[in-house]
Amino acid sequence: MKITVVGTGYVGLVTGTCLAETGNDVLCVDIDAKKVEMMREGVVPIYEPHLDILFERNIKANRLNFTTSLDEGLTHGDIVFLALPTPEDEDGSADLSYVLNVSEEIGKKIKDYKVIVDKSTVPVGTAEKVQKTIAKYANCDFDVVSNPEFLREGFAVDDFLKPERIVVGSSSEKATALMKKLYSPFVRSGNPIIIMDEKSAELTKYAANSFLATKITFMNEIANYCELVGADVDKVRVGMGSDSRIGKRFLFPGIGYGGSCFPKDVKALHKSGKDADYDFKILDSVIEVNNHQKVILLPKIEKHFNNDLTRKNIAVWGLAFKPETDDIREAPSIYMMEGLLELGANLTVFDPEAMPNIKKRFGDKLTYASSMYSTLENVDALLICTEWSIFRTLNYQKLKDLMKSPVIFDGRNLYDVNEMNSEGIKYVSIGRKVVEI
Ligand code: NAD
Repeated sequence: MKITVVGTGYVGLVTGTCLAETGNDVLCVDIDAKKVEMMREGVVPIYEPHLDILFERNIKANRLNFTTSLDEGLTHGDIVFLALPTPEDEDGSADLSYVLNVSEEIGKKIKDYKVIVDKSTVPVGTAEKVQKTIAKYANCDFDVVSNPEFLREGFAVDDFLKPERIVVGSSSEKATALMKKLYSPFVRSGNPIIIMDEKSAELTKYAANSFLATKITFMNEIANYCELVGADVDKVRVGMGSDSRIGKRFLFPGIGYGGSCFPKDVKALHKSGKDADYDFKILDSVIEVNNHQKVILLPKIEKHFNNDLTRKNIAVWGLAFKPETDDIREAPSIYMMEGLLELGANLTVFDPEAMPNIKKRFGDKLTYASSMYSTLENVDALLICTEWSIFRTLNYQKLKDLMKSPVIFDGRNLYDVNEMNSEGIKYVSIGRKVVEI
């Protein structure tokens, strides 16, 4: 099939590449000329595990091409995916300007039947808006389908190739049949393509993300309470998670959720509720608790230094909003580092993939190290913000030799509290006993 993908970010590029991998002829359109040039030269502009192999293979096979021209994109594809940003607007709602501006262009430019597939995360009623916007200008038939994307950064390729489910919101039999045909290679093991109306599809995405953000936030509150009453959140987590109605996943406490999706999606659903005169009280609390959770280690660090962080040297491990990505959007590390800088601390930082993005944001306010251990030389404390696998096994002796004093503030509960105790390392984590030295 001939496919066009408009927007080549984390979702669009993975979508385009994986659709090419199953034999489709894919043209990706992006407004960012530099990015398009880079991709034409065979460079993947983001870090996403396994993407590079598929990207290279499909470019070589001439099934994956790139352009800045929407005209070209609309001549090429019978199915046109919109994988455009829907960032948070000032009032918390999703900014639909990217999606609607491109829809207007599509309306002006299409000459024959197309299926326009909205993959961006959008509020209920957006498919209708896209439909009306295109219809205002178009002189031919077209269908609009809502096809929310559930891939996770860090696992995006695997998630796209082997999705647990595909949701298609469509009221057109013709478009539904095309979508089923396009996606059939990805659901050979029997996972469902769930067909529903457009509004329900749009809400499914917001409901799923808001539920997951709520699950994390609930666990963070349990962790905070554990600290006050002397319970261990690790034990509570295992005890709870073995109940199949609850499940083991998304029960790990930490310094809050971040990323390009959960924060804005929870806020957008909350705002959509308000617009419909519905008050999502639970989401209000999730937003408030998470804002607090992102900086929950700050007062603990301040207390350790007797409320004086001026010229204290702190190492930071993990800057991306989660492991296996270079994405730093809404990363808790940013809030922690801004807080620490404001209090006068000097920060030496390391992340396996997100350093270039953090450098763009913080410039010379931070010292950038080339490895995890080189951040530790003569520092007064180590702060961990992201649970990259390489941080999981510590060389205790090396750490103690390098640091001025062995003190760890762990926002991701990577280490065993008892081991820290026997190693003589001060260790503050989330919802567990503090190890003093
Ligand atoms: P992104 O910011 O990584 O990428 C968006 C791309 O669109 C950029 O390359 C940008 O240059 C391009 N673009 C902007 N305006 C354009 C235009 N007029 N024409 C062509 N290209 C244009 O965004 P993303 O993370 O891929 O997210 C896209 C959508 O998918 C959002 O709605 C997001 O909420 C949703 N989503 C994201 C994820 C995720 O993990 N990142 C997962 C599921 C859903």
